[in-house]
Amino acid sequence: MSDFNWCHGPQCHEKHTVDRVRGVKGSKVLRTRKIKLNQWNSNSQWAFFCSNHCQNDFWKEYATQIVAIAPRTECQETPINDPVKTRHSNNWHSWYNTEITVDESRQS
Ligand SMILES: [Zn+2]
Repeated sequence: MSDFNWCHGPQCHEKHTVDRVRGVKGSKVLRTRKIKLNQWNSNSQWAFFCSNHCQNDFWKEYATQIVAIAPRTECQETPINDPVKTRHSNNWHSWYNTEITVDESRQS
């Protein structure tokens, strides 16, 4: 098993950064970044993307196909208790907080 992945950003190799420059003088290229796998990225998307930018590019290009893996055809709901609105104030102003708690008795 390999200890790295190539970044999956479809335009990774087109971004102008010096760390992507490879090759000998006269035939230089911009190369896709290599992502070294470690304990912090191995079980997440960061094993496949070198940056948020590359991850966003991937989503832009493949969103329809990605969502097809786990389509959401209906909304989901979390049962809650009736929200409690409370008024707070200090010397300068007042504000309201609304506390929302999950109704564990209706949790499936
Ligand atoms: Zn990348």
